[in-house]
Amino acid sequence: MVKICCIGAGYVGGPTMAMIAFKCPEIEVVVVDISVSRINAWNSDRLPIFEPGLEEVVRVCRGKNLFFSSDVEKHVAEAEIVFVSVNTPTKTRGLGAGKAADLTYWESAARMIADVSKSDKIVVEKSTVPVKTAEAIEKILTHNNKGIHFQILSNPEFLAEGTAIEDLEKPDRVLIGGRETAEGQKAVAALKAVYAHWVPDDRIITMNLWSAELSKLAANAFLAQRISSVNAMSALCEATGADVAEVAYAVGKDSRIGPRFLNASVGFGGSCFQKDILNLVYICECNGLSDVANYWKQVVHINDYQKSRFVNRVVSSMFNTVSGKKIAVLGFAFKKDTGDTRETAAIDVCHGLLGDKAQLSIYDPQVTEDQIRRDLAMNKFDWDHPQHLLPSSPTASKQISVVWDAYEATKNAHGVCILTEWDEFKNLDYDKIYQNMEKPAFVFDGRNVVDAEKLRKIGFIVYSVGKPLDP
Ligand code: NAD
Repeated sequence: MVKICCIGAGYVGGPTMAMIAFKCPEIEVVVVDISVSRINAWNSDRLPIFEPGLEEVVRVCRGKNLFFSSDVEKHVAEAEIVFVSVNTPTKTRGLGAGKAADLTYWESAARMIADVSKSDKIVVEKSTVPVKTAEAIEKILTHNNKGIHFQILSNPEFLAEGTAIEDLEKPDRVLIGGRETAEGQKAVAALKAVYAHWVPDDRIITMNLWSAELSKLAANAFLAQRISSVNAMSALCEATGADVAEVAYAVGKDSRIGPRFLNASVGFGGSCFQKDILNLVYICECNGLSDVANYWKQVVHINDYQKSRFVNRVVSSMFNTVSGKKIAVLGFAFKKDTGDTRETAAIDVCHGLLGDKAQLSIYDPQVTEDQIRRDLAMNKFDWDHPQHLLPSSPTASKQISVVWDAYEATKNAHGVCILTEWDEFKNLDYDKIYQNMEKPAFVFDGRNVVDAEKLRKIGFIVYSVGKPLDP
């Protein structure tokens, strides 16, 4: 039986390994993590992440050929293929702070692999890493364990949270980058054989290591750029009376452009887009390509602009102050069908409203009160001055309540901000909500999910991103 071990049981490591185990019953897959509580959750009935379809897949394989363990070293030592899917966040201190990827988790995983290995191994970069990381990893591995042959492969993950299982089962493509030597190509073939259990041959793309590493950063940069492009257009639509949905539809009908990923919104979030673009910016700067770096920086800049534009719209619509006013925040996750709040636009929007002394009543169907309070209590990173952390207001926690129902959140509220596109927000009883709100009752739809005309008929004043404003 081939043995695979994955270091990192997070949003990527957990679902990707569950899919491999599900599709390859003859392969033993062990997912390990230094976080004992995360491993305990993977072994319980309440998985540590919410992802449609994940429970079913885990239920089929767990205990048969899929295992979760905190005995990291033992399982790494026994595996022939070791995936590394640890977090690679943005560095917050020192050289490259605010842009470069923090590879400390990767480095410590690599040192541990070198320490415990007693047989040759294929080490697979599953995390998103800067281009050329494989070279650094090779040095760490080979200098620390001279008797063992390690082959490093790049196999970046393209799943999107909320649709991870679907994306893993039917990927647009699987990239495998390896060295062009005979040993490198043998390792590429071994990993390809794993995916070949369910991914059609023409969707498994092999290439050189650096192309595979860079392709992941490039793909995220292109996706985020589409969102910033349509969001930039949304500001112009609001200024001119055009409707961003109509413009996006017209633009997307061009077969060279295509219709997907053209929804205007309060801004993108999630753990990847911003960090990967900043990482790309840093790599460009390190390579003396400042014009290219500045080009990609604008994608993040427009995203920040969009979030602050939304906050300004809320405050200016509500007679230039939200001080002491109750505002219902519907949705806190960075997108629907996930409980993940990393870099969610809701954090910046809430900070902006708290800064103007609003009273927030927050509801999200998948995010816990602890998580929301932790996110909002965290000091905010100051992108303009990366050496500074902006202090969070000491009174902010008293301005926040977290409730478990959209109706409770909106009771006696002056305004509603919809910040995540959860399906349930489309079909709330807005008549009832209107009755229980202060008047005039405002809805600021940061995801363009509600039927604005219907709400206007009820009596709401409605703002939708990039749409003509209320007459
Ligand atoms: P995560 O934070 O959810 O999971 C990472 C896990 O690694 C954590 O549980 C952590 O405890 C564990 N870990 C860290 N160091 C370890 C070590 N030395 N030994 C054992 N375990 C260790 O992160 P994630 O969202 O799964 O992302 C992982 C990587 O995949 C990142 O590079 C990310 O950019 C990339 N990625 C993420 C997504 C996504 O949608 N989340 C999609 C594609 C790629």
